[in-house]
Amino acid sequence: MTSTKKVGSTGRFGVRYGLTIRQKVLAVEKKQKAKTECSKCSKKAVRRVSKGVWLCSKCGHKFAGRAFYLGE
Ligand SMILES: [Zn+2]
Repeated sequence: MTSTKKVGSTGRFGVRYGLTIRQKVLAVEKKQKAKTECSKCSKKAVRRVSKGVWLCSKCGHKFAGRAFYLGE
């Protein structure tokens, strides 16, 4: 009854959530980490505070933007 191979904890998971998903996640994370330029003071200090809401930490400008969520 030893059908499981020596693949460790990532084995089954790694196959199911393969390269495509991981690349998608990576792309999303890159977008989330990338600094967004503020449309008001043009400083690159904008952070995503919640889904689709962005806040500039320099001037406090809050605006709606794209939400980088998986599946959207
Ligand atoms: Zn600003």
